[in-house]
Amino acid sequence: MHLLRKCKCRYTIDLSKEICEKCGERFRSAYPPKFSPHDKYAGYRRKMKELAKQRGLL
Ligand SMILES: [Zn+2]
Repeated sequence: MHLLRKCKCRYTIDLSKEICEKCGERFRSAYPPKFSPHDKYAGYRRKMKELAKQRGLL
């Protein structure tokens, strides 16, 4: 669970607040979006296909 959120001035785990009273910013998830495993494997497959082509396997 991503409970930690942040605004411009601080981090919070208080879910009762949507907006920071200090800076007026909305709290957002403090975690950066991660690459999905699907995209990772798609890139990997593309690379393998390229290699195979270069070696005359396709
Ligand atoms: Zn703030």
